[in-house]
Amino acid sequence: MEVIKTKNELRKLLERERQKGKSLGFVPTMGFLHKGHLSLMERARRENDVVAASIFVNPTQFGPGEDYGTYPRDLPRDIRLARSAGVDYLFVPEADEMYPDNSITFVDMEGLTDVLCGASRPGHFRGVMTVVTKLFNIVKPDRAYFGQKDAQQVLIIKKMVKDLDMDIDIVEMPIVREEDGLAMSSRNSYLTASERKSALVISRSLSDARDSIKEGENRAGFIKEAIRREISTEQNASIDYIEIVDAETLKPIERIKGGVLIAVAVRIGKTRLIDNIKLEV
Ligand code: AMP
Repeated sequence: MEVIKTKNELRKLLERERQKGKSLGFVPTMGFLHKGHLSLMERARRENDVVAASIFVNPTQFGPGEDYGTYPRDLPRDIRLARSAGVDYLFVPEADEMYPDNSITFVDMEGLTDVLCGASRPGHFRGVMTVVTKLFNIVKPDRAYFGQKDAQQVLIIKKMVKDLDMDIDIVEMPIVREEDGLAMSSRNSYLTASERKSALVISRSLSDARDSIKEGENRAGFIKEAIRREISTEQNASIDYIEIVDAETLKPIERIKGGVLIAVAVRIGKTRLIDNIKLEV
């Protein structure tokens, strides 16, 4: 595996691969890798001749007062893990390599970006779309891999690729969880031992919601309220949002039917965690 810091170097190496007719899979990440990230890399390894991944904590997707400065970083460990997952080229640019001083162009979207995490984190998805577009233009992958963990993000990326005629297949992978159910996240490293226990209420409330829907409950308001009640039993949990929406449009629904996304964002202590389940009812 080669570790590359500059766009020019990466472009040159990948151009050489493309000229040999190789297919290219790409996994963008912010690093501090865990099994969720590795599942994307391993899938990319199975489906492509060449695999590129990036580790870039993207400043433009963090709002003021968010955790850009403290986001966990461990490059030596990430290099070992990415290599073991079969990555060929690991791109690790600094912020000024990705955003030179005079960068004033952004990618944005209406509607899908205004709800859920977009409502609580204004500008977040503009930052995500801009950096993903830049990475796509540098890497020029055939396929790019994203996790359902960030369900709104992957939906937005799929729509962006379609709207802007980017010739890239977007592959979505299921959420990888710890054995006790907590969705894996680099941000879990912020949790104290007791917060880690409290955080379990998030996945538990979602799987309880899934159970009651299986038993026939179809009132979104009722399910939302049950989730709210369950999460509120944890003293250090504060709810950012609980939403039940159409899985394609992200519009709120009243009756649970068809493709449904139940998405939550909860602060445990100071750490904001997200989780979701998708159902076909
Ligand atoms: P991040 O480094 O958090 O920006 O995530 C990079 C990619 O990994 C995104 O496509 C995420 O959706 C995906 N990802 C993060 N956590 C998980 C998880 N627990 N399971 C599956 N994919 C994940």
